[in-house]
Amino acid sequence: MSTRFNFASDNTSGLCPEALNALAEANSGYCASYGDDEGTARAADLIREVFETDCDVYFVFNGTAANALALASLCHSYHSVVCHETSHIETDECGAPEFFSNGTKILLTSGPDGKLDCASLERMILRRTDIHYPKPRVVSLTQPTELGGLYTTEEIRAVAHLAASHGLRVHMDGARFPNAVAAMGVTPADLTWRAGVNVLCFGGIKSGISLSEAVIFFNPELAAEFSYRCKQAGQLASKMRFSSAPWAACLQDGIWLRHAENANRHARLLAEKLGPVPGVNLVRPVEANAVFADLSPEVDARLKNAGWRYYQFIGGAARFLCSWQTTGSDIDQLVADARG
Ligand SMILES: *Cc1c(COP(=O)(O)O)cnc(C)c1O
Repeated sequence: MSTRFNFASDNTSGLCPEALNALAEANSGYCASYGDDEGTARAADLIREVFETDCDVYFVFNGTAANALALASLCHSYHSVVCHETSHIETDECGAPEFFSNGTKILLTSGPDGKLDCASLERMILRRTDIHYPKPRVVSLTQPTELGGLYTTEEIRAVAHLAASHGLRVHMDGARFPNAVAAMGVTPADLTWRAGVNVLCFGGIKSGISLSEAVIFFNPELAAEFSYRCKQAGQLASKMRFSSAPWAACLQDGIWLRHAENANRHARLLAEKLGPVPGVNLVRPVEANAVFADLSPEVDARLKNAGWRYYQFIGGAARFLCSWQTTGSDIDQLVADARG
């Protein structure tokens, strides 16, 4: 029996062919290091084009670094970041945001579907205003959420408006941002800075379009000295051309969106085919590239015995993620094994 990671996460997929070609093309001759090369400038220009604004762009090696360093640049050590209790920055980054900000505290709120709820968000922001409590400085939201859902543009605007009205800045963890854009048919600008987002961590890795994540500052003053943070954290690539070239390749002609759409389409197909299997109960609507299902012990055992790997967390449901690489035949095999 072989172990099958096809749906365990979108980071088990490979690098898309366009990105891989871009790496090979970038591998010729010599060029300036540490991001001073033309290819990196071109990738940043393409990001500015995609976002229709003059933003500051940095490439780092992973999403944890992107989030942690972005948050550190928005906070002093005595500040706090308010986020949903299921946020990756809280549950899956080993304290990196607190570490890189020298102690900024993370404050948790709850809300349905992994989304911030404005009423509880405001309660948390206002809970304490005295000198003895870490001052709320940032609201962080994840798009799509850790539960595979999407904030509408209006919901992002409402969160950002509330944050701004209390003097807080807005960070968006967009580890799967391409899936959100592809699913919503909304421009990247409308989903971010036009809705009040100050910093976006734009995921290139799970989407298969790069081996790096882009940290995008829509207010350049917030990016002051950010390169030093990256360097100190071991996140400044000397051969930056390989971090940036795949971005430049995939941001052209909507390649990044086509790959994200493949992931989203297959998630819908997976739900359609897995949902009716006896012992399977889909527990949330499929909005981007994730499918969550309660599995009976029999189905769970059949899938595990057939070698399928998947995570069960956030309420115990099994999570299946689709990627740029997912095919109909992957889905048919999983569903056949679930049926037994
Ligand atoms: C995967 C993921 C990240 C980044 O994780 P790394 O493993 O550090 O690249 C960040 N946020 C969310 C919501 C994620 O799913």
